[in-house]
Amino acid sequence: MSRIPTMLMGADGPEHLAGRRVAQSVECLRCHYDLNGADAVGCCPECGLPVPFSLAGSIDPIVHKLSPIPNPSAVGRGLVAATIVLAVYSTVTFLWACFTMAMALGQVNVLDSLKAFRTDRFQGWWWVLVAGMLVCGVLAYWSFRPQQRGRVPVGTTRSLALFASGVFLLTLGAAAIPLTGGRSVIGLWLLAASPAMTLPGLVLMLIGFRGILIEIGQRCLTFRRAKVRRQNIPPILAALGLFALAWGGLLLGIRGQSETFIVICMAVGLLALVFVLVGCWYLLLNAWWIRGALRTPPERLRTLLTTAEPHSSSANVAGE
Ligand SMILES: [Zn+2]
Repeated sequence: MSRIPTMLMGADGPEHLAGRRVAQSVECLRCHYDLNGADAVGCCPECGLPVPFSLAGSIDPIVHKLSPIPNPSAVGRGLVAATIVLAVYSTVTFLWACFTMAMALGQVNVLDSLKAFRTDRFQGWWWVLVAGMLVCGVLAYWSFRPQQRGRVPVGTTRSLALFASGVFLLTLGAAAIPLTGGRSVIGLWLLAASPAMTLPGLVLMLIGFRGILIEIGQRCLTFRRAKVRRQNIPPILAALGLFALAWGGLLLGIRGQSETFIVICMAVGLLALVFVLVGCWYLLLNAWWIRGALRTPPERLRTLLTTAEPHSSSANVAGE
């Protein structure tokens, strides 16, 4: 029994548990039994896990030390909307890169093989997608926009400006993709270059989003403690840089007609995009956690327990 804590650190300072009961719904960490009414130093009646462990797992004192944000639910929605934009664009960029390169694969003259492609069939659907993503991006911006006295709820005005210009550039770049192609050499060359058109927007948006995510992520225990499943943004930016290098090499290779070089660049570029894609879907998962923490913020330890009995004073516990 000596390992089970009789005191926990809450947002309002240390709380002694002896003689107190759980006064609200607190799920047992192991079996999810509702511990409401249980002895604070007792064990779960269902599985025997000591109640202090479940209490410690359901509070997050760090959150209560941070300055409150005026619109937590909206910020949570904005995080998810922003990461949907990132995840969808990284996915379609990868698919589009595969598609344009699949047409060119096995052919020395990439430009000739691209001539067979007609973009007008998929233009309509593509622009519907771009419009949908623009709505998501604007929704995210609206959630992060400056509140009273020009203060942004999370991040800095600089990160928000970068984020907004990223959404704008991403929309422009993506909307221009179906305009490439055609009969001219420049049009075909642009078609081969088109998977990179979402690149500047993605980079700006990710840099801006990083400032927002790091700050708001402090309010989510799962995000703070996550190791493998927590996505950092700099590796995604590095992969985008690698993609830019590979695609630049590829476009030079097209003019030089060097087949081996084209294939190497293609492989490196597509691999880098796979890394970006996986990273952006992880960001969506992280945003989902943080949204949950913002919607249902953790309780203060003091409000989870009945008031301390006079006879279980701190002097009494310290003397044990
Ligand atoms: Zn239990």
